[in-house]
Amino acid sequence: MRNDAAAPKYATAEIAVWWDMKDCPIPEGYEAHRVRPSIEGAFKKLGYSGPVSITAYGDQTQTPDNLLRGLSSTGVHVAHAITESTCALMYSDMVEWRRHIPPPATMMFISNQVDHVFSLDLARLQQETQYNLFLAYSVSSKAIPALETSAEWRWNNLLKSKTKKTRVVKIYEEEESDRAMFYCKSCDFDCQSLRELRKHLSSRYHAMGELLCPTATEISPVTMKWGRNFPAKPEYATAKILVLWDIVDCPIPEGYEVHRVRPSIEGAFKKLGYSGPVSITAYGDQSQTPDHLLRGLSSTGVAVSHAITEVRYKRMFSDLIRWQYLNPPPATIMLISDHIEDYFSTSVASLQQCCIKYKYNMFLAYSFRPTKMLALVTSAEWLWESLLEGVYLSSSLCSTVSETRRHVLQRCSSQRGEPESTRMFDCKTCLFDCKSLDDFMKHLSTNEHAWEVSILSQYIISFFLTI
Ligand SMILES: [Zn+2]
Ligand SMILES: [Zn+2]
Repeated sequence: MRNDAAAPKYATAEIAVWWDMKDCPIPEGYEAHRVRPSIEGAFKKLGYSGPVSITAYGDQTQTPDNLLRGLSSTGVHVAHAITESTCALMYSDMVEWRRHIPPPATMMFISNQVDHVFSLDLARLQQETQYNLFLAYSVSSKAIPALETSAEWRWNNLLKSKTKKTRVVKIYEEEESDRAMFYCKSCDFDCQSLRELRKHLSSRYHAMGELLCPTATEISPVTMKWGRNFPAKPEYATAKILVLWDIVDCPIPEGYEVHRVRPSIEGAFKKLGYSGPVSITAYGDQSQTPDHLLRGLSSTGVAVSHAITEVRYKRMFSDLIRWQYLNPPPATIMLISDHIEDYFSTSVASLQQCCIKYKYNMFLAYSFRPTKMLALVTSAEWLWESLLEGVYLSSSLCSTVSETRRHVLQRCSSQRGEPESTRMFDCKTCLFDCKSLDDFMKHLSTNEHAWEVSILSQYIISFFLTI
């Protein structure tokens, strides 16, 4: 559990807290008016001193008056919701809050449901517009590790943070604007006193409301309908594009001219307004790929990487990280694979949230659409075969593209001295690279290569036997 000190831009920024009182109740014997100062005390320890707004959600017909008074006297808003709807309401209130409060700001959930219920949609929201994120819970399981937080607490530890409670109580009694509100989320009702809330909760109007118009019990993922294939934003229009292509998952279809792969990919990019230099690497067990395909790829400037099945995704991922290191944003990264969800989505989504400065524009292509929403947010996605069919360029145009491409490769490599730009064939098992197909094929048939493959396979087997 990492608790990072506040970055300067968040140190005095606003903090909004959504607290599920059922998951994280006030412990027996704990005074309710100590909750806010404890939470604020924990924030201050990390250097956060911005204004804190807290809303406590729960079935308030079950919460004793003295607890609600203790909370509201310290400016904690009280929201009534039926237990089944609490999560969905907290989430939609958070989405609404994001519409009104631009970053930099901090948001915090106190709940045990974050991982299971809204982590995926929230991770996607965070990739688009990033807020600083805190979590607290009484029970934790990182079911979906795609969500990046800067601080997490156990609820009971958070309540133990040392604070100057009397001073905080006084401030909230004096400042009218900070007076706690009472909400009935079932009826969209609000008031300023516990007495009024109690009266409402026992009214026929409220009973009918909960009966006839029940609140949603499932969160509505706001990113679900985010469109695909957005036109290029100006900062990406001429920026570099890296394409990591799994040639095993998404092979060149039977009868398809290999020369057309690069122009088809570039054509699809151009349709969306992307015209930056495109670097493509095809990953697979190249000892199984026919020579004419390898020749065709390399003649159009597609680099070829040999990686055996067991490590192919790892190699693609490590090349992605290496490329990011050498090529800061703005830039675009495209993954062509049918295993985005298993191998890339979560880790790349996490990277995308780690630092706003290292956020890349993402493209995907796959031979079949993932059945579930991915944690990774993209601005364009294609079905592999449709992508290949989308653009037809005559062979003369293909050769022009490939000539241009070679020129770009040479120019780029001479400018930046990046070794990967000049390397056209590489064996990921032996870290061997070369410029000619003949040398590459010769390498794949050497005893040294076979030995490296057998060592790697043994290593992988022993690794899996130990876990
Ligand atoms: Zn009501
Ligand atoms: Zn090798």
